[in-house]
Amino acid sequence: MCGIFGITDSKEAPGLAYVGLFTLQHRGQESAGMVTDDGTQLRQHNGMGLVNEVFTGKVLESLKGRSAIGHIRYSTTGSSHLKNAQPLVLNSCLGTVAVAHNGNITNADRLKASLQKSGAIFQSTSDTEVILHLAARYRGRNLEDTLARNLPKLAGSYAFLFMAPGKVIGARDPHGYRPLVLGRLGKSYILASETCAIDVAGGKTVREIEPGEMVIISGGKVSFRRFAPARKFTRCIFEQVYFARPDAVVAGRSVQKARYEIGALLARELAGVKADLVSGVPDSGTVYALGFSEEAWIPYQTAFMRNHYTGRSFIQPDQRLREVTAHLKLAPIKDVIKGKTIILIDDSLVRGTTSREIVKSLRAAGAKKIIMAIASPPIISPCYFGIDTPNREELIANKMSVERIRRFIGADALHYLSLESLVTACGGGKDANFCVSCFTGRYNR
Ligand code: 5GP
Ligand code: MG
Repeated sequence: MCGIFGITDSKEAPGLAYVGLFTLQHRGQESAGMVTDDGTQLRQHNGMGLVNEVFTGKVLESLKGRSAIGHIRYSTTGSSHLKNAQPLVLNSCLGTVAVAHNGNITNADRLKASLQKSGAIFQSTSDTEVILHLAARYRGRNLEDTLARNLPKLAGSYAFLFMAPGKVIGARDPHGYRPLVLGRLGKSYILASETCAIDVAGGKTVREIEPGEMVIISGGKVSFRRFAPARKFTRCIFEQVYFARPDAVVAGRSVQKARYEIGALLARELAGVKADLVSGVPDSGTVYALGFSEEAWIPYQTAFMRNHYTGRSFIQPDQRLREVTAHLKLAPIKDVIKGKTIILIDDSLVRGTTSREIVKSLRAAGAKKIIMAIASPPIISPCYFGIDTPNREELIANKMSVERIRRFIGADALHYLSLESLVTACGGGKDANFCVSCFTGRYNR
């Protein structure tokens, strides 16, 4: 997962792009970058770290322009280095073109090998650069033409923002795996991973970009173009489960409301369960627990204090660091926990590391009984479309039965939400189709 944000036709473009990226920070904390356009020249600044670390006042001042595109990165393909930070900028026969990408190009290695054979020299190890090399080789009349010709060669998932002097182009893969929404702010257009970034920047959401659709913003005007037939809309359902901020709207449905309803459906699936309190693993588990509490008539309590200055623990790309930061992040509130039967809700169970640590600390704080409820089904299969679960062997639900997972995490009971309940709660608009491959092991083609 990554976050992208672009804005056109505003004298505040760099500042508003900063606001947009800052709002999307939960989607990745590894690097941040921005490219601005003053109509003739692109300026770039990328750095490792959080948005407010990368863009100091001085840096923002140097990024002059009336349009900007930006990116925050959570590495999935390519290692954690500055050279893989985005947006990428390439000078070629196309002129200067910048690109920011959320997703995972599954045929990048094959495309890259054949491009290298004919002389292409890659600057990064990320999968994103492939599209710029393809575009430089197979050109059309203008950038949108060139992209329309080359995007269909990519497999996998993408939400792209491209920038060339005087132009910003967005594109979404033919399945619409990764999110991309269009917004409006006065004379400006905004493209963003989540509607909440448009809201915070002061704009209004217009609509989602459709699968296989390109949006071209140039000369203050917006136009749309289909570069591939729309396949079945299969949005990543993990946006609703985990990635998106609760104040975002996905597939016409508020994420907050979807999560609240998921919590209620979890309660229904666990009807008759007795407990003193229900709590969520902060932050993502909280809304589920509130929905559960209302439905089950079991009081909601905060069982853990979240330290907000640590970043997301899952984010550390190596296992040892991940474990250390898990202890730092969540502190049990002993007076709430001692002697109690607790229903604890987390959004997902991937490797089992988080749940195991949390159950351990609840026990240490004197909990009598711990019922773990997960707001999504068992993740049995890797994601090839940009989520950080690349390895089948690392997925605990792929190796163990629910009963063995329960023993591994040390809970007294463990319940996963059914896929049916999940899809029901997430379905807002009538075309709200989701990719659920990680729960089923069946992939779209
Ligand atoms: P586990 O510890 O079981 O490997 O992972 C589960 C925890 O990681 C949950 O608390 C969930 O909130 C979080 N999580 C699940 N998927 C992702 C992801 O793709 N990225 C990040 N940063 N965290 C995730
Ligand atoms: Mg979590």
